Amino acid sequence: MTYKLAELSGPAVAHSLTDSSIAVIPTGAIEHHGPHLPLLTDALIASEVAEAAVQQGLSQGLDLWLLPTLTYTKSDEHAWAPGTMWLSAETLWATLVDLGRSIATTPARRVVFVNGHGGNTALLGVANRELRRRFGLDTFSMPASLGQAEGGPDELGFGIHAGHAETSVVMHLRPDLVNLSLAARNVPEHLAELEYIGFNGYPVSFGWTSDDFGPSGVIGDPTGASAEAGATLFAESVRRAVGALTEISTFRHKA
Ligand SMILES: [Zn+2]
Repeated sequence: MTYKLAELSGPAVAHSLTDSSIAVIPTGAIEHHGPHLPLLTDALIASEVAEAAVQQGLSQGLDLWLLPTLTYTKSDEHAWAPGTMWLSAETLWATLVDLGRSIATTPARRVVFVNGHGGNTALLGVANRELRRRFGLDTFSMPASLGQAEGGPDELGFGIHAGHAETSVVMHLRPDLVNLSLAARNVPEHLAELEYIGFNGYPVSFGWTSDDFGPSGVIGDPTGASAEAGATLFAESVRRAVGALTEISTFRHKA
């Protein structure tokens, strides 16, 4: 039987899903990833990690249903680049609420967004609470890339976009879509001297667009990327996603 919700008929949804079912929604992006990676990068990684995690989770007895990937998302930091297809925060917000409303018509009561694009993270966190309050759903969001990048030593922790990790994973999944001869390092080294202001994990965040750091739109160092590193990162991301889905399957708000 299928694990893809959209391959079911409407009536089959009503009797195949239960209140222990988890709806898994990959969220990606169609956005500029430098000259060496496809626009599809984030949607590809989210889709592939989510599908592999659902397959493994099903084999371990979890009640998982994969929904179609939400591929157009909030990529306004790359709005300057031709090919980026982005939704405003308002549009993505309304879309997430509408998806929650729709999922609430199925027997499933748990939803997890497996997110391949960092620009969606903040809004997904807000949506988690909105969908819980409005529709009574148990809601979760997580990054698709849960693996720890081993390479990229020259990225100074700034390999956040089209750098070593993403490039390696796409080389693993779709080598035909990568042109490593066009890859170039672009690391905002001056930020490494700052104590408070930074990207993920720093106390002071700041508004930025990807061309703030140079014309390539890359933030990181893709030059040492490899399919082997990508395979390791992908497998680790899937393994940890299955672990996360296992916790989600039994999560309770009260003890
Ligand atoms: Zn990306």
